[in-house]
Amino acid sequence: MFGRPLNASRVVWYLLRVPRRKQQSLLTLLIVIALWLAWAAYKRYYLHPAPGDKAGPAPRTQPAPRPPGSAASNLLAGNPSGAASGAGASPDNYLLERAGYALSYNRSKGTPNWVSWRLERSDLGDAERQNDFRPDDALPAGWYRVTPSDYTGSGFDRGHMSPSADHSADPQSNSDTFLMTNMVPQAPDNNQGPWKQLEEYERGLAAQGNELYVVAGPAGVGGAGSKGAAGKTPNGKVTVPAQTWKVILVLPEGADISQAGADARAIAVIMPNRQGIKNQDWRAFRVSVDEVERLTGYDFFSAAPAAAQAAFESRVDDK
Ligand code: MN
Ligand code: MN
Repeated sequence: MFGRPLNASRVVWYLLRVPRRKQQSLLTLLIVIALWLAWAAYKRYYLHPAPGDKAGPAPRTQPAPRPPGSAASNLLAGNPSGAASGAGASPDNYLLERAGYALSYNRSKGTPNWVSWRLERSDLGDAERQNDFRPDDALPAGWYRVTPSDYTGSGFDRGHMSPSADHSADPQSNSDTFLMTNMVPQAPDNNQGPWKQLEEYERGLAAQGNELYVVAGPAGVGGAGSKGAAGKTPNGKVTVPAQTWKVILVLPEGADISQAGADARAIAVIMPNRQGIKNQDWRAFRVSVDEVERLTGYDFFSAAPAAAQAAFESRVDDK
């Protein structure tokens, strides 16, 4: 009726017959084996192999839930260079879209051509800065993927085009800004000086109830960082720009860009990518949007009515 005892009952049966001291060490051994098996299972199912990036902490491997369907809002103002993705798309004008921003990638330069995003109050929150700089796996297979260490020893910062703090509503959106396709080699005095000031100013406008359409990027070749002038990072993988530029269209929250008027506020800057400008006010670098269009060859805010565009792009902001 009882048949052969199970393995577990045989173990218990054995334990009961050995001296008390040996029982204890056997139990300890069994517990150690059980813990080890549990750890091995955890590693197998929940942790993926760590990436090659030694410059920062390993990226999160279980993405948090995304805000639904927000990617399209990053190109509502237009696609400045007609970037496209997929087969037949240009490797030097390659469109990448994610929830927080869209960008045109330039494979030859190892930087974006431009990064575009919409900024509003709901993008700002308490999420911590993730600092997980890492290569972008969204690039087509076989392309070189810029790594954080490509910037090491260059004298240039890994400079966010779409800033970390503009995406602080949740940790995943913030983490997305640390993909290397969102970076250009930025002179520390540019990145940590007037460029940063303007970033803070734009968040202030969003916090006040405005909706901002922002596009930022690099221009030209050759900057001067903390180790002097350079056209590329030391290993030759990433082109150092001569300037960084940004254009911002400021509309009331909830506005539709197709209804932007001639009186809409547009802010545009071109900043030299060099040391020595850290304490300059960002306002000293203001130009018209038209001037950034001439510099880059792109058409910004093309979704706005032509007459309004002509008007607000020709003015230099003076607020
Ligand atoms: Mn920055
Ligand atoms: Mn335009």
